Amino acid sequence: MKITIGHLYPDLLNLYGDRGNIQCLMKRCQWRGIEAETVAFELDDSIDFSGLDIVLLGGGSDREQMLVCERLREIQSDFKTYVENDGVVIAICGGYQLLGKYYKTDQGMIHGLDLVDMYTEQGEGRLINNIVLKSDLFDMPIVGFENHGGRTCIGGNKPLGKVLYGKGNDGVSGYEGVVYKNVIGTYLHGPLLPKNPQLADWLIARALEKKYGKTVELAPLDDTQEREANAYVYHRFVSE
Ligand code: GLN
Repeated sequence: MKITIGHLYPDLLNLYGDRGNIQCLMKRCQWRGIEAETVAFELDDSIDFSGLDIVLLGGGSDREQMLVCERLREIQSDFKTYVENDGVVIAICGGYQLLGKYYKTDQGMIHGLDLVDMYTEQGEGRLINNIVLKSDLFDMPIVGFENHGGRTCIGGNKPLGKVLYGKGNDGVSGYEGVVYKNVIGTYLHGPLLPKNPQLADWLIARALEKKYGKTVELAPLDDTQEREANAYVYHRFVSE
């Protein structure tokens, strides 16, 4: 079995070690004997989505998001087809905002990919915090770090999790992230995946199921250190 990860615009969308998410996905595949390859795309590159099994969009400043948004319009239709056909996407912070219709900032409008019915507007001050979520997709909590000026409204879509500590999508709804088909969008940096191995495996399993057309049981890995890191953050911020 083989997985190809498409990393979109890492030279622009790359805040807070988002590249570590790629390394985590690659390693968790390789440790199980699943071949893994990453293809990094620059802004001018054409993208054949049919050759990709997971697409990663990282975080970026408003300025960098503005730079990529014109190009996103050109790939929108192919990206939409990929998502509607159950393609797997993990989008972090600035990348998460770009999944929606738009991100309205004081400096102007950033047009999004419109892959998920959601939008973001810049609010007063930035939401900067450690963050802990409970998601019904996983038994472990999801832990990370958030730093965003945008407030995201996901409408009737399913959130990734309930905020146990931190701010989340807009600082008031009590929810964070979005799940739409095989797309996960979230504000969590960290990087996200090394401390949240169940989320990493969810992406890998969905990608293999889509590609090979059968239910996949991933071989368990020794996640002692990952679980310790996750539990440490959880207990630091959430009192039971
Ligand atoms: N530029 C966006 C914001 O400030 C996203 C930032 C990020 O990716 N950390 O809301």
